[in-house]
Amino acid sequence: MRGRSVRIKQANDPSLRSWVASANYADNDFPIQNLPFGIFSTAAQPAPRAGVAIGDQIVDLSILESAGLLTPSTQRVFNRPSLNDFIALGKVAWHSMREQISQLLRDDESRLRDDAALRADALVPMRRAVMHLPVKIGGYTDFYSSKEHATNVGSMFRDPSNALLPNWVHLPVGYNGRASSVVISGTDIRRPMGQVKPPDIDSPVYSPCAKLDFELETAFIVGADTALGEPVAVDRAESMIFGMVLLNDWSARDLQQWEYVPLGPFNAKTFATSISPWVVTLDALAPFRVSGPVQQPQPLPYLRHSGAHSIDITLSVELQPPADAEATTICRTNYRAMYWSMAQQLAHHTVSGCNVCVGDLMASGTISGSTPDSFGSLLELAWNGQRPLRLSDGKTQRSFLEDGDQVIMRGWCQGDGYRIGFGEVRGRVLPALRQGI
Ligand code: CA
Repeated sequence: MRGRSVRIKQANDPSLRSWVASANYADNDFPIQNLPFGIFSTAAQPAPRAGVAIGDQIVDLSILESAGLLTPSTQRVFNRPSLNDFIALGKVAWHSMREQISQLLRDDESRLRDDAALRADALVPMRRAVMHLPVKIGGYTDFYSSKEHATNVGSMFRDPSNALLPNWVHLPVGYNGRASSVVISGTDIRRPMGQVKPPDIDSPVYSPCAKLDFELETAFIVGADTALGEPVAVDRAESMIFGMVLLNDWSARDLQQWEYVPLGPFNAKTFATSISPWVVTLDALAPFRVSGPVQQPQPLPYLRHSGAHSIDITLSVELQPPADAEATTICRTNYRAMYWSMAQQLAHHTVSGCNVCVGDLMASGTISGSTPDSFGSLLELAWNGQRPLRLSDGKTQRSFLEDGDQVIMRGWCQGDGYRIGFGEVRGRVLPALRQGI
């Protein structure tokens, strides 16, 4: 008699393999251990709906849900144009759904693999899908949590000997951004118009931005509503974070330098913010947790936590000039060195009693490392135009972005023989609409 030995594998088990062959390639962003959530549509079925990335395919969760393969099937949440209703079900539901989807996609699991009709409906090649914003974003906040970035910018714009302002080491500095202009990867970005005041003239002029930049960031998506007046404790904050995306905080440096005193960035940031389409869950990122930098001075008690609250995420930025020129990797860095954690950011955001909502987007701030090739913006990479970057063709130089340039950001956690990838966030710069001049 054959002995019955059933080994229950959790979704993060590195030995899992999928019957979707492309998911098993070592350099693929979306192995079965990842299973990020997103919103997509197809020409054949233009209504946006929820899916999970697996290899070069998307699993249509609305189909699995209708087929009764996901429980609880009484609560339909995936045939929707955003993930908000699913996210609102809470952490236990996120975890359970990810385990169920993982089970259906394993190489030894036949329910979907061997049902040709259902498989044809439920699996969509990524190349045939259009991706949409994964969540309806009520509020967008941008933090400023890389010590290296804050030091670089403070050195350039204020005083190298006093680059960090006194508050920086005591609280995660941030500002409330603009949710209406958050766009999905692939959206073209129009060079903004605005006020600039060159140092050699007395009055500002109205002109196209001449110092257009990117900022390499990650962002987290809030997974629960809180009540107005009730802060989130730092130890509870991570249970309220659904997952992470890559984010490009497009920035108009010349507008920024003139307008930011005393209330911070306004038009220099609000014209566009791009995010990657796949939300990588904190569950999928759990094996890559690391401790963040030692915080000295020790933060106030409401920001104090111990343990592994950062994540080892390798990040890169490529710049591709117009026409068919090849892309040059201009930045390689890592999320792990960020000074303030996501838990601290959320705790600080709510300490005053400010409420947050499912789908709110909270960005890390520019992620810069300590070496010149690890800076997360052109402002730093070319040091405000003083050291133009030479691209890989040996001729082209850049201090800031030019019309037609494309910026491509990527991120992944490297496992043993697989990686948990974020895919990419990309955008191309369009010429300014020179209205009024
Ligand atoms: Ca930023």
